[in-house]
Amino acid sequence: MTKQGSPGGTNLDPWYDNYADRTAGLSASAVRALFAVASRPEVVSLAGGMPYVSALPDELVTGALERVMRDQGPVALQYGSGQGTPEVREHILEVMRTEGIRGSIDDVVVTTGSQQALDLVSKIFLNPGDIVLAEAPSYVGALGVFKSYQAQVRHVGMDAEGMIPELLLEAIAALKAEGQRIKLLYLIPNFQNPAGVTLSWERRLRIIEIARAHGILIIEDNPYGLLYFDQPAPHAMRSVEEEGIVYLGSFSKTFAPGFRVGWALAPHGIKEKLVLANESAVLSPSTFSQSVITEYLNAADWKGQIDTFRVMYRERRDAMLEALDDFLPEMSWTVPNGGFFVWLTLPEHLDSQSMLPRAVKELVAYTPGTGFYADGNGRHNIRLSFCYPKPDFIREGVRRLSTVINAERAL
Ligand code: PMP
Repeated sequence: MTKQGSPGGTNLDPWYDNYADRTAGLSASAVRALFAVASRPEVVSLAGGMPYVSALPDELVTGALERVMRDQGPVALQYGSGQGTPEVREHILEVMRTEGIRGSIDDVVVTTGSQQALDLVSKIFLNPGDIVLAEAPSYVGALGVFKSYQAQVRHVGMDAEGMIPELLLEAIAALKAEGQRIKLLYLIPNFQNPAGVTLSWERRLRIIEIARAHGILIIEDNPYGLLYFDQPAPHAMRSVEEEGIVYLGSFSKTFAPGFRVGWALAPHGIKEKLVLANESAVLSPSTFSQSVITEYLNAADWKGQIDTFRVMYRERRDAMLEALDDFLPEMSWTVPNGGFFVWLTLPEHLDSQSMLPRAVKELVAYTPGTGFYADGNGRHNIRLSFCYPKPDFIREGVRRLSTVINAERAL
């Protein structure tokens, strides 16, 4: 297997021949260097998916930190359980109840962000060559994990209501005919990253039925579900199916990603394996972070704080949609009901990746669509995030983007 994508990347690295085959899946993003430039203050970045943590009142966080150190310092600074503290797992159940999920704290595994839960699930299920089914497009960070375990990702088409069940059935039939082993169906049902769309309730039920019939485990990744703008999202798939779903959640978007606390809720046998894998990876997730989150959830009006986030992100979403209407009326884009992202479709002859350096020169950054596909698609798509810049900046960013797109179209 070629290792062109391995860390170090070239034979100037004296260890080049020693890396494990799986490092071939660890490739640096082609646009990472540009993103360094894009973080300059004069650039409006519609690229990253960073939660706007400045909207968290300082005293809520510092108060929790101080109380943790004052009341439980020696415990919070110590190693803990590989499954996570019972206290934070109890709160996690309370958070999940708001999306219709019932479970036991025994079945929750706390992880270092939901990103690590994706890694652990992949580690315990994926052999090289196994198939993971995912939406087209899908979350770049998950695609990277699947690739690092040498799995193959097959995308299944989606529309404004999420993954299309008939296309899922077709993909399964085709892969089975090829003799492929389908291990996981990875879904982001709410306010999807990157497309911004939400899987309808009817399709949730249909997809659960299909996965059950074909013995495929569903990974329901739901970091954005509570950040809805108009109507709450439909209940989680996990609310109606327990044995066939590993549900992933996170405090990154509803509180703060810096604490790196996420979780998996899994059927019993899978949970046992996840705990072992977690212990082997990190011994125990950060006791300190879990204590601070527990204290925050005990003492603060966390639901009220999520409402504050929702109102703020809705304003930003509205600013983006209005700017798109005003400056790029001939393009098409998705209308998200929550979350952080709009997915923009350019005319077919425009290439979002090659256009990016020109955009950065015009002081606007975005994420080209190709990163969200494992198969090279997405060249004429762009992910625009509205979570971080304030509404005026979003408008100015879209205006700048429109000048770049219009100049490209005229070429
Ligand atoms: N899943 C999705 C769909 C995401 O967008 C993200 C963050 N960008 C993650 C998982 C990982 O989040 P965290 O590790 O911070 O919980």
